[in-house]
Parts: sequence; C-alpha cells; structure tokens
Amino acid sequence: MKTLVRNIAQLGGIQSHNKALRGEAMADFPVLPQAWLVLENGCIHAWGQETDPKGLPQADMVLDAKGATVLPAWCDSHTHLVFAGSRENEMVDKIKGLDYAAIAAKGGGILSTAKAIAQTSENDLYAQAMARIERLVQMGTGAFEIKSGYGLDLENELKMLRVIRRLKESLPIPIRSSFLGAHSYPLAFRQNHEGYLQLIEKEMLPAIVAEGLADYVDVFCETGFFSLAETKRICVAAQEKGLGVKLHANQLSAMGAVELGVALGAISVDHLETMDAASINALANADTIGTLLPGAAFFLRQSQPPARELLQAGAALALASDFNPGSCPTGNMNLVLALACIQAKLLPAEALNAATLNGAFAMGLQKEVGSIAVGKKANLIFTSPIPSLDYLAYAFGDCWVNKVMVNGQFI
Ligand SMILES: [Zn+2]
Repeated sequence: MKTLVRNIAQLGGIQSHNKALRGEAMADFPVLPQAWLVLENGCIHAWGQETDPKGLPQADMVLDAKGATVLPAWCDSHTHLVFAGSRENEMVDKIKGLDYAAIAAKGGGILSTAKAIAQTSENDLYAQAMARIERLVQMGTGAFEIKSGYGLDLENELKMLRVIRRLKESLPIPIRSSFLGAHSYPLAFRQNHEGYLQLIEKEMLPAIVAEGLADYVDVFCETGFFSLAETKRICVAAQEKGLGVKLHANQLSAMGAVELGVALGAISVDHLETMDAASINALANADTIGTLLPGAAFFLRQSQPPARELLQAGAALALASDFNPGSCPTGNMNLVLALACIQAKLLPAEALNAATLNGAFAMGLQKEVGSIAVGKKANLIFTSPIPSLDYLAYAFGDCWVNKVMVNGQFI
C-alpha cells in the first residue's frame, strides 16, 4: 500500500548518515521545497518535487498536506517521564527564597519523588506515564528514551523498568530504557556508599538483565552524588552485562564526568552546563554525543551549556527534554528547540538536527527514525503553515505541530 503525500511546502531533514552529525555539519538541515513524499507500509519510500516535469508518482492513496512543512518527528533521548505526582510546591518554595538544602529538609527533591513512586502501583505509574506520552506525541515526539531512578531499591527500580517495558510493548513508537539506580544515594545508604554499590551490582543489575529490562545504564556523576570511581564501577559492571552507557555529566561541576563517559565509550553524556577546556576537548573528537537539556537549565536558572564552543570544537550534539518532576516539568520538544536557540545559541538548523537525527543516534535508533530516509519509519510532524523552518524556534511558546503521523498513520 503506497500513500502519496503531496503539497508539502517544505520537506525537512532529508538525510542518511552512518554517524551523528558534528561540528559545522550540524548547520546543514537539508530541505526540499514544494515536495511530495511516498510512504509504503508505514515507512518512507521516496520523495521529490512537485515542479519535476516527470510528474507525480503512482500511489494507492493521496493525502493533501495543504502547505504543511513536514519533518521527522522529534527524538527525545533523555526523559524521566515515569514518575508519580508533581512538585510545583518546590517551585513556589524556591521563588520564596528557600535553597536546595531547605527544600530537601522539607522532604523535597529526588527523594520525594522516590517516596511517591514507592506508594504508587505499577498500573497507576503506567497510566500516568502513558497520558504524558500521548500528549507529547501530539506535540511531535516520535521516539523516547525513559529512565528509572526514582525507585532506588530493587523492588521499585524493577517496578519503574517494568512500566517502561509495558510502554514499549503497547506504543507504536520506539522507546529505549535506561537503568538509573545511581540517581541518588537513598537515605539508608547515605553513609554506606559501598552497600548501595553492591546492591546495584549484585541485586539490581542481575535482576534487570535477567528480565531484559534496560538498554542502557545511566549514572548521576556529580559532586555530592556519584564520584568518578563509583560511576566507573557501575558502568563497567553494566557493560559486562551487555548494557550501553549514558551519563548525567557536568551539570553542576566539571569533575571529569564527560572525560569518563568518553573513555567508557558512552553513547551520550548529557547536561554539560559546566564545561572546561578538558571536557570540551574530550567531546571534540569522540563518538560520544553531547546531549543538551536546555529546559532543565532554564527551569533551574542555570547557565546554558557552551553550545557554540562545543560545535566549534567539532562535537556532535543532541537535544532532549530531561522531562522530570523536579528540574524540567515539560517534555515539549518544540519549547526545547526554541530554548536551545534563544538561550544556548544553537542555530535553528543545528537545533533541528540535534532534536531529530542526532537524538536518534543518542538512543541507537538512527536506523529507524530521525530523518527522511528510505526505509525509516514514517514518524512525521506536519506543521501549520509557517514561513520558514527558523520560525519554529523564533515563535516560541506555541506549538506549530498541526498533525503527527506514526508509522504512516495520523494519530
Ligand atoms: Zn536527567
């Protein structure tokens, strides 16, 4: 069954690469004006221009895009979207002047979400996460990575990962799962890091791998959380069991997390708000992708990652939401794209590549999604009529996504 989509004002993101885009190449987001697109069995089959004298191809069905700009759906490679409840009370406390320690003393922070997770059933967590994903797909996201990390004990980490597996099994979009047991030391292990590391190595990882619940391990490598040595130990143990590595790196301090991630062959190092020359150099020539999370820096009123310096050095960058209840309570990738340009100074074309193809690479999904390429899933954004692609980043705070297609079907 072939479907011809015609009357596309601009068809963006036509590219197939074996490696993530990096440095200067990220400024090229290929666009075809006045285009048509043929889909076959839910996948991208062919494209061309309506002005071509050869005329339009044959198809079983014709869809009129009515002047929409058509793009690959967003690939959000860093989310914590399985959580219970919300933490707007902490935002209000912060506005009133309470600092992180005072909020933690009131029972806030990661541990408050951990408490909520422990009190919520797997079915409820699944229903809450599904509702979030359904909204985000309508806003243009066509692939997700989702982390555990609010369980912080065997039972609740497994519960979160089983929720992610159920989402994978029931949704028509690709989802990757990361085990983030090393998100924070739970209260019982604050003075006993060795005990928690052993719990991760000897109980959590074997159980997770036995059930096939995770594609990646992730660690919050940060001063006051998991040290370089602790991070390395967890990652190596996970790699020995066949998991890939992602890291929360250089959010609050330049302590060597990026360099460690590159040395471990991590698929991505994420955050990068606090970079020094050594960490920028480490990413410059690495296959490891640097994932920027401008929504989190915005919400936390932190400075944004040095995107221009990273690109000048030749790094490969992805953009993701970091959707979570504490530091980025939105998964709206349209807003993330705008923040990346307005605040982190990516060019719109760079941000578009970072939010699509490089996001797919940052989850190992580049063969399925992330660009207009033969054989990839037809997970596509159809915008309202817009004057240019730059407009998506410029006219921020609105959602210009009009319709979303998943596997060739409007949803
Ligand atoms: Zn995160």
